[in-house]
Amino acid sequence: MIYYRELNLDRASESRKSPRWIEQQWTRQQCRVFVLNNDKSLMRYRDGDLVTPEAMHLPQSRVSDLVDEFERLIFLGIDPHGPLFALDVSQHSDVLLQPYLGDGEFIDLRDVAWQLDAQQAAQLAYARGLVFWNRHHRFCGLCGSPTRSEYGGHMRRCSDESCARMHFPRTDPAVIMLVEDCSDPQRPRCLLARNSRFPSRMMSTLAGFVDPLESLEETVEREVFEECGIRVDRIEYQASQPWPFPSSIMLGFRARAISLDIVVDGVEIDEAHWFDAQQLKTFGEWGDGGDNYSLPRRDSIARFLVNSWMEEVLQR
Ligand SMILES: [Zn+2]
Repeated sequence: MIYYRELNLDRASESRKSPRWIEQQWTRQQCRVFVLNNDKSLMRYRDGDLVTPEAMHLPQSRVSDLVDEFERLIFLGIDPHGPLFALDVSQHSDVLLQPYLGDGEFIDLRDVAWQLDAQQAAQLAYARGLVFWNRHHRFCGLCGSPTRSEYGGHMRRCSDESCARMHFPRTDPAVIMLVEDCSDPQRPRCLLARNSRFPSRMMSTLAGFVDPLESLEETVEREVFEECGIRVDRIEYQASQPWPFPSSIMLGFRARAISLDIVVDGVEIDEAHWFDAQQLKTFGEWGDGGDNYSLPRRDSIARFLVNSWMEEVLQR
């Protein structure tokens, strides 16, 4: 399963352009609000269960006092239960916020995503990505004047009338690829690497951002060679995953190695090895604290690429 996909929400892309329509949604009785504080999302632990968190949304009536600037309110869409908004409360002190939060607490979505219902995880990720974008685009990149939120937080317009440039949320494409060594048909292997930023012993697939004027296949070839010195061909698209941490989409590929000698760059990648499926089965889980190598996080497309390769190889 790939997390953060298949968001079951009518984004109302046309209707949200009307401030009056947004106001109508905000005042509907069914309106619910996800509250975010410095990129952390309000969640709570289920009754009697200190392990499993769930997303928490509050009725509009309960948080309307916290909306000191309409700027910080973002329309997400309409789900089967009614309108959903996100509210950024990062400017408020913990003391001021506490009475509004009930039994909720602010938790980093990335720490708990795979424990959440997948639809909740997708909604929280969408809210987090949009709140982040709004907070980081408060000034016009062209003339430096303040920008103002429009379209329910999906566009920011420069407040200088002679400029009036419209700014939209951007998504940065990145490729992520499982490189396969098929030279021994009895024992196919895949290339996994440890990024210097990774915690502990997690090994994952290679990945990198798409450069300007580069096709996705060219990015795959370049990144694999730069990071591990391996040449590849037969680059085939597998799947994609929105990755709003803060604003990417991961485009997943599989590629065949045509050279096998690994030379890590020593900057981004600390170590890289070829592993067969039996070896991967002995790996631990991300965050388990063991001494063994671990597989990528369960909410990542890297894990999907590794798992689907393992299943396929073990069935061959
Ligand atoms: Zn401007």
